[in-house]
Amino acid sequence: MEKDCIFCKIVNGETPTKFLFENDTLVVFKDINPEAPTHLLIVPRKHIRCINNLTEEDREIVSEIVMTGRDMAKKEGISESGFKLLFNVEKGGGQVIFHLHLHLLGGWE
Ligand code: AMP
Ligand code: ZN
Repeated sequence: MEKDCIFCKIVNGETPTKFLFENDTLVVFKDINPEAPTHLLIVPRKHIRCINNLTEEDREIVSEIVMTGRDMAKKEGISESGFKLLFNVEKGGGQVIFHLHLHLLGGWE
């Protein structure tokens, strides 16, 4: 838990947010400012700043995040039409919230 981290607060229930899925490793919720008809965020419970900060011990977390992206795409009915899985990395890569998260985007006509 990182002080003043918005996603730590969401993950720990301090900021009430509806989870579409959760397990011991991660939570999934809707992006507050969607950039696609379906826009979900897959967020590990562990505070990791971004892809650059991953360590060997995070391998399982990353695997779980990506597989959950796939599963949520299926649940949302966008597997066949297609979708994007996106990690923004640091400011230059468009990252605004510095707690690792995977964007799931899809549902376009
Ligand atoms: P990034 O640019 O990769 O850091 O993406 C951060 C994303 O978090 C943006 O798409 C925001 O719209 C989204 N976001 C920010 N605050 C919240 C929140 N409280 N609940 C849901 N999504 C949020
Ligand atoms: Zn955090």
